[in-house]
Amino acid sequence: MHDTIASLGEFGLIRELFLPLQFGEGLGEFDCGIGDDAAVLTIPRTQQLLTTVDTLVEGIHFGSDADPFLLGQKALRVNLADIAAMGGVPHWYLLSLALPASTPLFWARRLAEGLAEDGQRYRLSLVGGDTVASRSGSITITITLFGLVGQQRAVLRSTAQLGDRLLVSGSIGDSALGLACRLGRIVSPQQQDDIDYLTRRHDLPEPRLELAQMLQDSSLLHAAIDISDGLIADLGHLCNQSRLGAQLHVDHIPLSAAAKRLYERDGSALEPLLWSGGEDYELLLSVSPGALEMVGHAAQRCQVTVTDIGVVVQDPGIAYYRAGQPMAPLSHTGWTHF
Ligand code: ADP
Ligand code: MG
Repeated sequence: MHDTIASLGEFGLIRELFLPLQFGEGLGEFDCGIGDDAAVLTIPRTQQLLTTVDTLVEGIHFGSDADPFLLGQKALRVNLADIAAMGGVPHWYLLSLALPASTPLFWARRLAEGLAEDGQRYRLSLVGGDTVASRSGSITITITLFGLVGQQRAVLRSTAQLGDRLLVSGSIGDSALGLACRLGRIVSPQQQDDIDYLTRRHDLPEPRLELAQMLQDSSLLHAAIDISDGLIADLGHLCNQSRLGAQLHVDHIPLSAAAKRLYERDGSALEPLLWSGGEDYELLLSVSPGALEMVGHAAQRCQVTVTDIGVVVQDPGIAYYRAGQPMAPLSHTGWTHF
């Protein structure tokens, strides 16, 4: 029999597994993290606080066989993508866990190890949380992340401008394809390497923090959103909130080599999954046409590709183009919970 988390108890878990994730460098002399009723954090005068929360629920966001090491990292990274989309720098996080008492102790240890690795990678300090029993039998992981951005420098969704170019980082659709391969909804391609690449993209998003921070400094990045619900849905959010529309050139949407191989095999049946499947956690940027060169240089410096997929227009909604010609809109446009 493996030990369960019940063998350590609530406070044993916090002390042994979570307290070590509080890195001192994230806390000032008069700050306080894990151990009191609330954390105390100092916000420099020149900065504004960004805060965001995301929840992963077993059975909805992940299966019972998911690797807890990667789950912790994904829970952090989906939040990091939100801070990136605002042009901010992440600093602190809160971890709220609902765990069945029968959860193996090694599961909780692996979760903490994944968090420790990413905490160091992104220089984040865990400053508090909540640890409760789940009676439903399913695990819930909630992370609240706090970041900083210069006063009035946050990059909003609602400030795209007429004539802006629409750029996306990285490649779109890998995550949805990876999940579909894992669930057997796509007959897997021949190359195991492709399946591994796509499922990895699903398990471990790469928040584009460095790129966003570089561009945030320039007043030529007008608006941004991270692509969590799917490119089409999130482009819709950016347009609606800016009270503008977009022309989207679907044949410009960047695909990875692995996604391209599947697309060449299965054709347009894959398009809804690629463009609306969600969980890409790439950035969609609305930039002044005069900024394209600057964005290209910044992207090169952080070794991220950016691709021009369209333009912001006056007419509301999304107008779709393929090979320069108008095409019919998609019927399925993105993930919603209810
Ligand atoms: P309270 O009852 O006052 O809300 P708790 O007993 O729940 O406090 O938690 C004690 C301390 O441990 C608090 O500082 C809280 O932030 C921290 N804590 C609880 N669970 C976690 C966790 N999963 N990760 C990090 N810190 C935690
Ligand atoms: Mg209290």
